[in-house]
Amino acid sequence: MIKSRLEIKTSLITEAVSYLCKKAVCILPEDVYEGINDIYHRETSETARNFLKEILVNADIASKTLRPMCQDTGIVVVFVEVGQDVVLRGEDIESAINKGVERAYQEFGLRKSMVNDAVFDRTNTGTNTPAVIHTKIVPGETIKLTVVPKGSGSENMSAVKMLSPSEGVDGIINFVLETVKKAGPNSCPPLYIGIGIGGTMEYACMLAKKALLNEVIPVSKLEKLAKIDKKRAFELKILNEIQKTGIGAEGFGGKCTAFGVSIESYSSHIASLPVAVNLSCHATRHAEIVIDENTIIPEHIESKYKVSLQESIIDYSSYKKISLPLRNEDIKDLKAGDRVLLSGEIHTARDAAHKKLVDAVKKGESLPFELKDGTIYHVGPCPAVRDEVIGPAGPTTSARMDSYTRQLLGPGLKGTIGKGRRSPEMIESIRKNHAVYFVATGGAACLIAKKIISAEVVAYPELGPEAVYRLEVKDFPVIVAVDSNGNDFYDQTGQ
Ligand code: SF4
Repeated sequence: MIKSRLEIKTSLITEAVSYLCKKAVCILPEDVYEGINDIYHRETSETARNFLKEILVNADIASKTLRPMCQDTGIVVVFVEVGQDVVLRGEDIESAINKGVERAYQEFGLRKSMVNDAVFDRTNTGTNTPAVIHTKIVPGETIKLTVVPKGSGSENMSAVKMLSPSEGVDGIINFVLETVKKAGPNSCPPLYIGIGIGGTMEYACMLAKKALLNEVIPVSKLEKLAKIDKKRAFELKILNEIQKTGIGAEGFGGKCTAFGVSIESYSSHIASLPVAVNLSCHATRHAEIVIDENTIIPEHIESKYKVSLQESIIDYSSYKKISLPLRNEDIKDLKAGDRVLLSGEIHTARDAAHKKLVDAVKKGESLPFELKDGTIYHVGPCPAVRDEVIGPAGPTTSARMDSYTRQLLGPGLKGTIGKGRRSPEMIESIRKNHAVYFVATGGAACLIAKKIISAEVVAYPELGPEAVYRLEVKDFPVIVAVDSNGNDFYDQTGQ
């Protein structure tokens, strides 16, 4: 007798993907939250503890307000496990998934970051599609959907290498450490590190991404498991080596650079040892659901944290207060490592806007805002919703702007705000032009947005999330990463 097959409408997949996108960007999985909370209690560096506090408070605000914890709401990766006894009715499954992504990003005020083609047409698709979809046929009568919004800061620092089998476990550890050190602060540590080992090159990469879905195991539990399980023992060994790098939260030193390591392994060719390292920032986001023909997608998203920190625990009393525009005497007094609260006017710009600004300078055209003594914040915020002044608005990686910033310092720019290290040439240019580089907490986008009291687009609206905004900020918390003497706080903190 032929078994009757279960029918699932692809419109249900659209609904489910939309729900999962919203949930994933707003609510950190409980195990991730607790993993970060665990290292917050282990960390001894005061600077790193402050960053971890901000990260946890930010996650809490995101879950309570149902707004994205980070402004980079990512490229959407979807893992689909289709039960082989299911019949799909409706449009093709990839279109159904992309419709769900588009719906969530349009309706929920999420930043759309996808461009049409990586090489030939870098215009924004306006829908945050297409998603990257991995489909697997499995036994059963259900469909499992897992949505992983992945930010570029940590994805860009991920890597794959084909080792020789003779390099063995030491080769794997060395490659992971090399990748983490190279990433430094750019991938918004503390990190969750997915490691895929085996298969072919592309399969190892997929395994590394999948490893990020595994539960974060707190160190005390991992130590117990390591005694009876060789995979756990290997994860612990790698984690301990990573902590020894001293990179710390946000890269300013500390004994907790990662809150977990997760390995997925597979068979390989006798002559191969592929290893992929997928770095994931503190915003390690994913959400999953198993659906069948009777599933009703929840209308509301709920957060179930067991622990939470109050915003009031962040103590800004030791911060210097500075009013903008930056004056030479203020810049002179600022030293690498100083904590500062900025108040006044700043402008936003990231990659595409910088290119336009620099082109305008080269052609001698007027700029859309006064550059002299000005401060540019490297950010691409989420759109505002409800009564928000601006959507979540954390910093992006400033090093990408280095060649442009150098050309804007001459015409009068004095300050930049972003995240991560700057190049030696950039630091020299900061010194020569008596400027300053501030770092804001990477990924603390909800917390930072609360310090922005007005926002308006003043140039390049066609760039969408990359348009230039004029912002009025009040007590905007930053740390001096490079001062006007060219001192780099990242160097001083021993990375
Ligand atoms: S926390 Fe940092 S690396 Fe992660 S998505 Fe946000 S900006 Fe990107």
